[in-house]
Amino acid sequence: MKISVDPERCYGSGDCVYRVPSVFTVVDGFGAVLPGREDDGDDPAVRRAAEGCPSQAIMLGRQG
Ligand code: SF4
Repeated sequence: MKISVDPERCYGSGDCVYRVPSVFTVVDGFGAVLPGREDDGDDPAVRRAAEGCPSQAIMLGRQG
């Protein structure tokens, strides 16, 4: 499943990086998905990170 971060919602808390540093990073103050990890949305840790994002900026879905 595709992972994406909505930059309109993200305020750079870094929670996602703290939870899953192998998938998320912070670029210019915003959460981002590391290159090559965009399809790791089925990982339960990624799902938890999405649920735990304080601004619900992490989207999991079949498209971008
Ligand atoms: S947890 Fe959410 S608000 Fe915080 S950096 Fe990640 S995507 Fe942005």
